[in-house]
Amino acid sequence: MPSEQWGCRPAFPTVFFYLKNTWEYAMKYMLLVIMIAVILAIPLFAAASVIPLAAYPQSPRFVARIVSPTAENFTQFTRAGFDICSYHPGEHLDILLDDSLFQELKADYPSLHITQTEAQLKANLLSNERDIPGYRNYQTMLDELMQLQAQYPNLMQVTSIGNTWGAQYAAQQISTYQDFDHQIWAVKLSNNVQMNEDEPAFYFVGEHHAREPISMETVMGILNHLLEGYGVDTSITDYLNTSEIWLVPLLNPDGHKIVIDQTDVWWRKNLRDNNGNHAINLDDYGNGADGVDLNRNYGYKWGFQSATDDPFSVTYHGTEAFSELETQVFRDLLLSRNFIAGISYHTYGQYVLYPFGYQQNIISPDAVEMHALAGAMAATIPTQSGGSHYSSMPSYSLYPVSGSSDDWAYGEKGIFAYTIEMAEEFIPPAAEVPEIVQNNLTAAKLLLARKNSKLLKGHITDALTGEPLQAMIFVEGIDNNPLKTNQTYSEPVYGSYYRFLPEGTYQVQYICPGYSAESFSQSIVSTGVTIQDVALLPAEPFSLQVHISDPTGSAIAGATLAFLDTEQFTYHSNEQGLININNFLPGTYRISITCPGYEQLLRMESFSGTSRTFILNSNPQVADGFELGLTAWQISGNWERSTSQHYSGSYSLTDSPTGNYSNNQTSNCRLLQPVNLQGVLNVNLQFYAKHNISLDGDYCMLQYSTNGVTWKYLDDFTGVSAWQLYSYNLNHLIGSNAYLRFTMYSNSSGSADGIYIDDVKVFVTSHPTNLTEELLPTPSLSINSYPNPFSDKLNLEIDCPENSKSPIAIAVYNLKGQLVRELFSEVLAQGKHQLVWDGKDASAQACANGMYFIKLSRTNEQIKSIKTILLK
Ligand SMILES: [Zn+2]
Repeated sequence: MPSEQWGCRPAFPTVFFYLKNTWEYAMKYMLLVIMIAVILAIPLFAAASVIPLAAYPQSPRFVARIVSPTAENFTQFTRAGFDICSYHPGEHLDILLDDSLFQELKADYPSLHITQTEAQLKANLLSNERDIPGYRNYQTMLDELMQLQAQYPNLMQVTSIGNTWGAQYAAQQISTYQDFDHQIWAVKLSNNVQMNEDEPAFYFVGEHHAREPISMETVMGILNHLLEGYGVDTSITDYLNTSEIWLVPLLNPDGHKIVIDQTDVWWRKNLRDNNGNHAINLDDYGNGADGVDLNRNYGYKWGFQSATDDPFSVTYHGTEAFSELETQVFRDLLLSRNFIAGISYHTYGQYVLYPFGYQQNIISPDAVEMHALAGAMAATIPTQSGGSHYSSMPSYSLYPVSGSSDDWAYGEKGIFAYTIEMAEEFIPPAAEVPEIVQNNLTAAKLLLARKNSKLLKGHITDALTGEPLQAMIFVEGIDNNPLKTNQTYSEPVYGSYYRFLPEGTYQVQYICPGYSAESFSQSIVSTGVTIQDVALLPAEPFSLQVHISDPTGSAIAGATLAFLDTEQFTYHSNEQGLININNFLPGTYRISITCPGYEQLLRMESFSGTSRTFILNSNPQVADGFELGLTAWQISGNWERSTSQHYSGSYSLTDSPTGNYSNNQTSNCRLLQPVNLQGVLNVNLQFYAKHNISLDGDYCMLQYSTNGVTWKYLDDFTGVSAWQLYSYNLNHLIGSNAYLRFTMYSNSSGSADGIYIDDVKVFVTSHPTNLTEELLPTPSLSINSYPNPFSDKLNLEIDCPENSKSPIAIAVYNLKGQLVRELFSEVLAQGKHQLVWDGKDASAQACANGMYFIKLSRTNEQIKSIKTILLK
């Protein structure tokens, strides 16, 4: 989002001074207005309403370009609060200036030159070349939507999804806003458009940012193209027949009017009346007292960085996440349907970007497929001046941005959410708009076509009633990535789910509370869709016994087992290390097991048998409470031991031992020696931390590296928190030598006490953590005859990889979990063994038709359970 990703970061003293003066000027001005209002005893409303729109002095502005900027240049300009228009690392940096700033900077940046003036921008907006009537305004867009709906009543439905601030202020009879009575319009495209069908949804949204009106033109272009192509083009017909396509051409109609009317062609934000004075404060130099940057206001990692709490900034992120009507409306639309992919259009820069954006080097768990589609889309879009095509990258690698629609849509909902930065300027000449829009259609259709390959989909239902279930679809190897913050769920109306995956074979679990989880191996292919419908059986409660021991097998008393997410059940182990849970519902749960002096186990765990063993490690490979110094750490910056704060002992580690941290720093504290993770089975990192870090863009980041050179993101800390245990499973690093470090970043504004870290431990387990599944040889059980369902005899086969040291039991249970018949219980020799169940219970009576479970267990620990249906 070259145009939209800017934080207000004063670093150049002169500019900082300039911006602060603007703020002070505004504050003084407001005070003056209030004083006059009070003195004259007239309502503030009346005093404010006499200030006409655009009465503020606006010195002429223009886009100026620095050629071959360094990364440092870029950081300096963003921190100084410049309005950054576009950035191409190493090539050019475009910033919005007025003449005095231009003259000031020209001395230090000889390459600085004007690329687009305000007069050019205004001319572009209205160009009548080639009989093209310029950009649509709100009313022409709305008229066209209504006309198209009348023309295509079976394919298209137009709805208002909410009001803007302008509409709300107008409803309050605030005269300044009477021409801003706007609604946000959404278009649904699909065959049987009046029905809510069992189909995946896609979105195209335009104009989060006011000065990017070609983004609205593009969404309108996509709309017209799809409508004209239906019934003519087989692909387009397929998209409309099998998906719901939602288009929001103009998310920010209030800001759009400011630009289209040429009140301020550089306006970017919405028209939120930040200072409550009932006037529209656009101010000069692009920064107005009013308005919120809508693409910094979404609620995923809101307020993190490259956004600011300064209302005057072009990247003001609002008072809180989703403080704005426009972002609330778009959020609610995305939550109301099963959206799987979408594009938000912006200008400019000629990029296809995908999440994450809030932080450097956060490689999303779905990055492989998100990148593949981004690259494919970018390759179809020629640049505005020709000769090459758009480029693609994760959003952060252009520059970090927090609170964007993409990060929220992906981070919260798992939607493949893209931003396309169109064109080479904010407002291309109107005469060039049709061609630029045309050039973007193929990419939009590639997004819609994504549902036809490398997709796992199906329905999840209750096996007994057939009712749809809202269940989790958990893909091993992707969803256990520590950065996975969303999980895929089937939607509640039809039980349908969709999951984009790279080509390959995956173990996929289907998990729903109160139901027995199912797990299937799924092959994802580039040539089509993999369909897996899943019927889950309601689980019957049973008695679960959990053993908690140390690696030598000794019981651990007083350990705490917590079932997270569900109903926060918590249990404690007795003197024998046992926890007995009656009426336990089998299923897959996120659990935590803790005991003072031992590692914390934090993981997703499936429970189906009546007995489980967990081993807690008490001998960390790395343990540092900072009591003896910092000899194990390599320090840059001010990191030091703290004597004022500690979780245990007398010391902790802190970034700023003598008070608040300083601005504009990047400092870190790194484990000197790597942790050897060769040939181990489980790795847990844990530590305690408390922090007070300014939410305006400062943070401490936890990173790891396998070579000590390139660092990857693990977690971040900002805001205020008391001492808390943090725990990370690092099994993805097994086989490597792992380095760890804490890095403190601060920008030029805001400061606080910083972070304290204590009792850093790395637990490395060479023993398996689950005896039943990993330490002992595991016999396998399979049904050896078909058909299944069976009517007469069920042939079973047990394959024992080596002699079993303890008895192996095979038994039949009914749906209620009651034992029907024990078939077998003895020590087994290595090899294959055949067994038959004749469909009779323990008293030789024929069993009723229905579902039965054949369970294989060893000394009360269930190893395997398969289901069968008896149908006579
Ligand atoms: Zn934008």
